[in-house]
Amino acid sequence: MRAGSSFGWHWNRDGEPCGNIGVYVRVNDVELSYTRTPNGAAPEHMRYNVPLASTRCHLGGSRQWFRCPRCSRRCAVLHGLARDGRFGCRVCMRLAYASEAEDTGGRLWRKQQKLEARLTENGGKPKWMRARTFERIYEKIDAVEEARDRDFAFGAARLLCRLGVKLDELL
Ligand SMILES: [Zn+2]
Repeated sequence: MRAGSSFGWHWNRDGEPCGNIGVYVRVNDVELSYTRTPNGAAPEHMRYNVPLASTRCHLGGSRQWFRCPRCSRRCAVLHGLARDGRFGCRVCMRLAYASEAEDTGGRLWRKQQKLEARLTENGGKPKWMRARTFERIYEKIDAVEEARDRDFAFGAARLLCRLGVKLDELL
């Protein structure tokens, strides 16, 4: 995602386009623009900003995150599942973590716990730990967190498919 760029997503049902969203990328945030059509109500145009955050990578470069528009939590994937038609992170969407009990989700969760156990209670650096080691652990946690977000996105999509929910009904 580069500042100044914009792109759109759209999705189809029975081969017909039935929803779309515009995304405008700026330096510190992205602007989302789309129309939601609640069941039986008039279409409502939604336009708001989602702040971006970046974390430094150990091997150089940086990793980009969204800040959840609802709770400001750092997340790799936003979901469009809320009743008010806004996007949010997997935690705010209050869906059970669909794949927590499944292989990948459980494995990632345990991995994150193991990493977090090496840090202080609030995720800080223990006094005796070298700064480089701390940085590396922190980065691994970021990577796991991102993988968990993506894993959740797949899990949620599978779950919604099973329930017969279509994305355009939720936006
Ligand atoms: Zn959130």
